[in-house]
Amino acid sequence: MRDRKMWNVTASNYATNTFNPIRNIVENMQIVPNPEKPMIALSIGDPTVFGNLTPAEEITEAVVASIRSGKYNGYGPSTGFVEAREAVAKYCSVSDVAELEAKDIILCSGCSCSIDLCITALCCPGQNILVPRPGFPLYKTLAEGLSIKTKYYNLLPEKNWEVDLAMMESLIDEQTKAIVVNNPSNPCGSVFSKEHLTAILQVAERNKVPVIADEIYDHFVFSGEEYHPMASLTQEVPVLSCGGLTKRYLIPGWRMGWIAIYDRNGILDKQGLQSLSQRIIGTNTLVQGALPTILSKTPKSFFEDTIKQIEGNAKMCFEMITAVPGLKPIMPQGAMYMMVGIDMDKFPQFENDLQFVEKMISEESVFCLPGKCFDYPNYMRIVLTVPEKQLREACERMAAFCTRYYQEFVNGHTVDMDVDHGYLSTSDMNEDVKAVKTASFDPTALIMEAEAD
Ligand SMILES: *Cc1c(COP(=O)(O)O)cnc(C)c1O
Repeated sequence: MRDRKMWNVTASNYATNTFNPIRNIVENMQIVPNPEKPMIALSIGDPTVFGNLTPAEEITEAVVASIRSGKYNGYGPSTGFVEAREAVAKYCSVSDVAELEAKDIILCSGCSCSIDLCITALCCPGQNILVPRPGFPLYKTLAEGLSIKTKYYNLLPEKNWEVDLAMMESLIDEQTKAIVVNNPSNPCGSVFSKEHLTAILQVAERNKVPVIADEIYDHFVFSGEEYHPMASLTQEVPVLSCGGLTKRYLIPGWRMGWIAIYDRNGILDKQGLQSLSQRIIGTNTLVQGALPTILSKTPKSFFEDTIKQIEGNAKMCFEMITAVPGLKPIMPQGAMYMMVGIDMDKFPQFENDLQFVEKMISEESVFCLPGKCFDYPNYMRIVLTVPEKQLREACERMAAFCTRYYQEFVNGHTVDMDVDHGYLSTSDMNEDVKAVKTASFDPTALIMEAEAD
């Protein structure tokens, strides 16, 4: 019976079960930079914050024209204006293999919203999706709010973060409704080969599970690498590709994302996605008005310039961090990030990557996101969109920090690094010690432990 004397207002299960691990971890972190040194945040996944990466003039002009036209002040259809969707269909079509039309596109409020609709359209509470580890935490945030379970398949650092395919397949059960694949990857910066993507699609096909492809970093690959849309590699597996303007066009705040539905054999229930789009009542119309121009008129040189800067940063950062004792960077092939392994055994003062990162903030004012944010301990993620000068400075400070805390245990005694000279200070610095110092370590071994909780 309703108690009419007392207010009883509680948050819904949906609200209570929704939380963003990055926000949770970062908000509870000790972030007290050293006042002597200006903060360098290698943690922010927004390419616009440093001012070195700006959208092409054509992109800005297109929105100005859209506003001036006066045609985009009213409501649009829930899935977006036909002209805007046609433009995205053209952009997402793979000639001969996967031709799309406007009806195959749903415009969303950013790619996050696209992923949300896909997960929500495919899964009921209690069912599950497979997601990558390390991976973008949003998948879990979106799923768990709805009581949809996430099961992690591992990415293998020693194989340039390729999927552990056997593990992926072993996770699939009757309740598995989708496999989420993020290529190119945040946080890894990896770009999968055609062969590897095909192997993933074979797992999906054998088990009849559709793929949600998070392709927000489409075409964002370094020189010599190639980007393959997942849908271009399968005739059988339905693929919901989530993309948008956010990263490639350097306009995250404009909130323009989309779902491209590749469903040659009519396997998916498209009405579900259409219905869900009615919850957002269409995305921002001004950007929709500009979309055809943005997608067709942005010069190639704009993308090339962006990638050139980030690739240059990646190379410099990789080289500098490779020389740092106790750290092991993994060279990315695209996107805007690099993962760096921390050999925690060599830093006995710190219990975990979180403590390590906190101390680095307090002493060096360099902020990297701890691997914990991506459910991947003993690593940290570095953002590569920072201006070169600051990134170099950050790497130098990281080197100083690690040199200060690095400890080697050799022949029964501890060998410290010398702070001033940045090298081993004991007299018994010999080939043995050098060998141990550079010996590879395997941070993934510790992940299984973390999995227990
Ligand atoms: C940034 C990002 C998104 C979300 O992009 P928005 O368009 O800003 O919502 C989705 N997936 C990955 C992997 C990302 O890094």
